[in-house]
Amino acid sequence: MFVIDENDRYGRFRLISWWRQERLLSAKVLVVGAGALGNEVLKNLALLGVGHVFVVDYDTIESTNLTRSVLYRAGDEGRPKALRAAAAVKQINPDVKVRALNGNVITDVGLGVYGEMDVVIGCLDNRESRLWINRQCWKANKPWVDGAIQEISGVTKVFVPPAGACYECGMTEADYRLMNLKYSCPLLKREDIAEGKVPTAPTISSIVAGLQTQEALKLLHGLPVKAGAAMVFSGEANNFYITSYQRKEDCLSHETYPPAEDAPLSVASAAEDAIRFAGATTLQLDRDLLLDLACPRCGVRRPMMKPLALSHYKEGLCEKCGGVMLTNIVHRVEAGSATAKRTLRELGVAPYDVVRVQSGRDTRFLRLCEDRDRTMNWE
Ligand SMILES: [Zn+2]
Ligand SMILES: [Zn+2]
Repeated sequence: MFVIDENDRYGRFRLISWWRQERLLSAKVLVVGAGALGNEVLKNLALLGVGHVFVVDYDTIESTNLTRSVLYRAGDEGRPKALRAAAAVKQINPDVKVRALNGNVITDVGLGVYGEMDVVIGCLDNRESRLWINRQCWKANKPWVDGAIQEISGVTKVFVPPAGACYECGMTEADYRLMNLKYSCPLLKREDIAEGKVPTAPTISSIVAGLQTQEALKLLHGLPVKAGAAMVFSGEANNFYITSYQRKEDCLSHETYPPAEDAPLSVASAAEDAIRFAGATTLQLDRDLLLDLACPRCGVRRPMMKPLALSHYKEGLCEKCGGVMLTNIVHRVEAGSATAKRTLRELGVAPYDVVRVQSGRDTRFLRLCEDRDRTMNWE
């Protein structure tokens, strides 16, 4: 017997044979980017009654966003996208718990956040962030759904670690070239990352975000998805086809971390606290840390101590001769060094992150548990 409760908001959904509304209500989804795609994905998640939506964006609303962003209104200009989007989600469906993070996905979202999610949806406009999310999802062993749009065409991709092809497996030489990953001056790529300004119509963002959300819906229900593949839609010819990626065994994105141990540490802890906690000798950094810059011509040295992801090309120019300075980038911190006295945050570690500490060949993965309450505070 099927009883339809007309007062049940989700009553119509329940008529779909495989639908489990309770699964959706308990689900946690991370949405990275609250632009054109992010708005549509967030709107869909709110309508579906997905119980926990964590939204990240560092940007503020501009008037040009209003033609492609169903969650924003005239007068919202200048307000942080993540906060405005989360408030709108809550308005559409008060059942949804939201967490808005007005910050950078690379430097401000710890791996502990990924670890608590069921699925990650990337609504981004640049390859650097996609590559980062891809690696984080592989480390945390979480599926992710990517979307990309241009004019009236777009692509939706689903990746499910640890087997199968990942986003980087599908990257071409042209993608690497566009990212300038192989550039001799690592700071130079910073400026080129301002891709972003691709013209798109709200119609294609609905289509691609619709597919993204639908694939996430299938993942949440344990329904089969085509992982390691791209769904390509060309809006001019109305062509729709699926292309599968080949897994590259030498791909740099395939590291999956073992479950992390909870450690009584936070990003405010010094690096040496983490090293000492594990009885280790070295802390490995997941993000490139720009320690300092040096001019090869006039010998000018400038301390930086910030993640490369937040550094700009202009900062890499010598104040004396205007030449390009050499970057000193580190990935490890040794016990007893001056750098080890710095807080994890100063070293580019994100709140509620998982840090790797090593002694010899033994590696331990520590989750910064004292950041959890502040980071995962659903509203
Ligand atoms: Zn790969
Ligand atoms: Zn100089």
